[in-house]
Amino acid sequence: LNAHAPKRPRILSGMRPTGRLHLGNYLGALQNWVALQDSSENLHMVADWHALTTDYEHVDQLAPNTIEMVTDWLAAGIDPEKSPVFIQSHVKEHAELHLLFSMLVTTSRLERNPTVKEQVRDLELEDTVSYGHLGYPVLQAADILLYKAHLVPVGEDQVPHVEITREIARKFNSLYGEVFPVPAARLTHFPRVPGLDGKRMSKSMGNTILLSDEPEVIAAKVKTAYTDPKKIRVNDPGNPDGCVIFAYHRAFNGGAASAIEAACRAGTLGCVADKKDLAAILAEKLAPIREKRRELEAHPERVREALAHGEERARAIARETMREVREAMRLA
Ligand code: SF4
Repeated sequence: LNAHAPKRPRILSGMRPTGRLHLGNYLGALQNWVALQDSSENLHMVADWHALTTDYEHVDQLAPNTIEMVTDWLAAGIDPEKSPVFIQSHVKEHAELHLLFSMLVTTSRLERNPTVKEQVRDLELEDTVSYGHLGYPVLQAADILLYKAHLVPVGEDQVPHVEITREIARKFNSLYGEVFPVPAARLTHFPRVPGLDGKRMSKSMGNTILLSDEPEVIAAKVKTAYTDPKKIRVNDPGNPDGCVIFAYHRAFNGGAASAIEAACRAGTLGCVADKKDLAAILAEKLAPIREKRRELEAHPERVREALAHGEERARAIARETMREVREAMRLA
């Protein structure tokens, strides 16, 4: 950590407002956010402007999806007193810093970014990628540096973005004077779980288990999950590699995974029974989240208050940073 470091490292993390969260969101980010909130100063941002970079045509669901998602954040254990939660577009300083940073990065640098390249290919946007989409790593740099965050917890695919943030911070500091820390990427390893069909878990694929699903919904969904297609009868020896149920066992029932693997391979465990067991385990693990969510749904003002309070705290930091930035750039 450098001279800018406060007592606890500051972390900025965000999620696009996709509505109710699923197991993949939980394992990939939320669980880690909750675990870090005592050792770090965390700010959690609803990245609604980022959502527009790929889905600018569909704005009707932004507001309801934001509330659903933040309700899940709080239900999963984010304490908004310790870790402010806020909506990116409510803190306009993000836009100002994004504009200033956009002068410090070349278009060819952004076009070389492997993560954006991949997205453009997957979404078949080769000839239609927008200026905003190409530049979203610059908006991300503004998000991170506005709060002078020191650490950015990311999955592997996001490391190139953090590199752009670091380059922008260094360039700004060398041109105008030391304002920003150069943040470090902190690679977070987490168990990836597939969707019920064995493909990537995603809402648009309709293959998710939501944190808020009731036990009977979990049981019905788990019944449809992809398992070893060669294991037809109860006593057929099975192969847990590639079996969705086994992937969930590993993520949520780790202690029993090796016994389940052995029983599956030996043909002493049938898929119907194993699915039943897993559904019960998931329902139990998610019970505290469902309970807290019910409480929040009965008091929706608590979610709105958390956002309003978080926004105030985020804005106070953002204003101070922008004062320094304008002064450094002689824009004051
Ligand atoms: S017994 Fe369990 S681990 Fe084995 S294939 Fe069936 S569901 Fe998967």
